[in-house]
Amino acid sequence: MKSGFKFSDDNKRYYTWNYFLKHKFNEKVFKVSLNAGFTCPNIDGTKGYGGCTYCSSSGSGDFAGNPCMDIKTQFETVKAQMNKKWQGKCIAYFQAHTNTYAPVDILKKTFEPVLDYEDVVGISIATRADCIDDSVLDYLDELSKKTFLIVELGLQSVFDKTGEKINRCHTYAEFVEAVERLRSRNINICVHIINGLPGEDKEMMLHTVRTISQIDIQFVKIHLLHVIENTVMAKQLKDGEFKLLERDEYVDIVCDQLELLPENIVIQRLTGDGDPKTLIGPMWSLKKLVVLNEIDKEMQRRETYQGSKFKRLK
Ligand code: SF4
Repeated sequence: MKSGFKFSDDNKRYYTWNYFLKHKFNEKVFKVSLNAGFTCPNIDGTKGYGGCTYCSSSGSGDFAGNPCMDIKTQFETVKAQMNKKWQGKCIAYFQAHTNTYAPVDILKKTFEPVLDYEDVVGISIATRADCIDDSVLDYLDELSKKTFLIVELGLQSVFDKTGEKINRCHTYAEFVEAVERLRSRNINICVHIINGLPGEDKEMMLHTVRTISQIDIQFVKIHLLHVIENTVMAKQLKDGEFKLLERDEYVDIVCDQLELLPENIVIQRLTGDGDPKTLIGPMWSLKKLVVLNEIDKEMQRRETYQGSKFKRLK
């Protein structure tokens, strides 16, 4: 059944990543997640130690490739795994840690080998707002002219007090500056936010989305906070410092957020993938399809769509 939403061929009431890929590339495209072995200024002491309080030892790249392999071997290995499920073209996703945290000659040697493969139609690079200096920006500009490029910026929340609590070690103002600099070169941006961070209530999570709905971004990933073993957050949870979101609360918040986002922003994710071996909670998140179905059902019950409550403020 077609939902009536502008960017949907089925019953979705928001602009899905699949819809975007299908219409841009006219065939199935999937991401191949890679771990290029970078670190992060928030781990090595340049900005902070220990990383964000929820960050796993793999630097939020639990399903990315093995950093001991060179990029091409890694790409081929991960892609062969993915091919058991999907056939089609690929976007090489440099996922783990901070993938612009190195000099440009290293970045070139890291990213460009994947462009030798005919089936690679794009590159997606996960990084932090404070790791895009002028030389990196010039290089990303150059790379964006060779392939379809997305720079993925972790924001998580627009509240600096939350940033401090989770040891993010950069401010919202730094994020906005990075967005402006990337967009001055027409580079696509995907923003990551997390629902359920310690100290945040529903109104704060909606405020984050209302705020980013006003800036020039092309993609969003909405994550549910996953608490992973051996993280600072795991201890905070055990000590009762905060509570995990229930599934119904999460569905309600996400539907409100979708209504607040402009209809032309592509939603790359509405849940996260926790590794069941190390996930402490919420355990309901492991049933990802159920969560996505509940979101669809709630949007349908409300008779609402992405962007139905979006207002351009300036
Ligand atoms: S910025 Fe990313 S890689 Fe660095 S500590 Fe935070 S979550 Fe981990």
